[in-house]
Amino acid sequence: MVGEVSYSIENQNLKEIIEVAKQISSELNIDHIIKNVSFVMTSKFSATISAFILQKDIDDFTPMIYLYKSTKKEIFTPNFPSILPLFEYFDKQEYNQIPFLQFCNDFEDKEIVDEIKKIYPEFIIPLKSDKGILGVFLQGKKGNGNLYSLEDNQFCINVISFAAISIENANLYRQATVDRMTKLYTHHQFQKHLEEEIKKGQRYDNKFSLLMFDIDHFKKFNDTYGHLQGDIIIKEISSIFTKSVRDVDYPSRYGGEEFIAILPETDITHAAKVAERLRRTVEEYEFSGEGGPFKATISLGVAEFDKLKIKYNVDIIEAVDNALYYSKQNGRNRVSMARFGQSPALITFK
Ligand code: GH3
Ligand code: MG
Ligand code: MG
Repeated sequence: MVGEVSYSIENQNLKEIIEVAKQISSELNIDHIIKNVSFVMTSKFSATISAFILQKDIDDFTPMIYLYKSTKKEIFTPNFPSILPLFEYFDKQEYNQIPFLQFCNDFEDKEIVDEIKKIYPEFIIPLKSDKGILGVFLQGKKGNGNLYSLEDNQFCINVISFAAISIENANLYRQATVDRMTKLYTHHQFQKHLEEEIKKGQRYDNKFSLLMFDIDHFKKFNDTYGHLQGDIIIKEISSIFTKSVRDVDYPSRYGGEEFIAILPETDITHAAKVAERLRRTVEEYEFSGEGGPFKATISLGVAEFDKLKIKYNVDIIEAVDNALYYSKQNGRNRVSMARFGQSPALITFK
């Protein structure tokens, strides 16, 4: 009889594990993977919390905590500088799962222990991939106060092993689609995305605009302050760019010091406003570096998709590039709008 009961629990668990695996196996968005897994883990056990600690980005080992309490989500940077000590610890251990109390006794860096304590985990499961540790998962106490059974533990370990595969896939996808230096989408990704946007525009009359910009007199900047200082400017401008547009705008690095974005559902007047805001933010920004702060400006162009005139990527890129060139010719540090059949028009918001 007891055997039968545990058999049916095992069956039920297996079904649930397959269901989660199905949902996350083709997911490339880390936020969605985390949300899905955390939802399953908190709801199955009415757990007080579920949380993931992952590195912030490619090449950036700042820890990020994704905390789920019932259905509320919080993402924050804890008060320790690097996730690497956690990676090293779990790399050396064979544990698939470790009670938090044991971790507290074992783990040498008390600053990290104290920070993790604040979210009240009951146990930790490392996210393992064949390339090493990707992060850790933390689970809070059961809602009914009972301890986790062996089956419960096995369930959690299995779900997290699938989560690790999905997160690894999402990381690989991000590595393949973003430029390593700026974390913007690559030229190739941009072209693919633009093709899709033009198809949608042709088929469903979707409106969109392109925004392109280039750093002014950048060769001279490099010659004066060195290539490494030039790289800092490129990185900081990229970060301003990312913050100035929406995720759906697909901010991309078009070339060395040239940048581009697709603004869906945006006409040229609105695109010009976005461009002008970006121009001014860069103009006012104080760039960091030894001997700084440094100043830089950008020249921009915007162009709106026109169903009758634009069939291929090159058609609209040519238009936006002409507008950008017009800004360069007319004094730089300004925005111009492409106009089909006419020369571009400078905009003046100053
Ligand atoms: P303009 O105002 O007309 O755009 O002048 P410019 O000097 O910016 O234009 P030009 O095309 O002559 O030079 C672009 C410079 O950008 C030359 C190149 O070395 C530099 N550059 C391109 N990519 C990078 C990069 O990744 N890092 C650094 N530091 N410089 C780069
Ligand atoms: Mg250039
Ligand atoms: Mg330039």
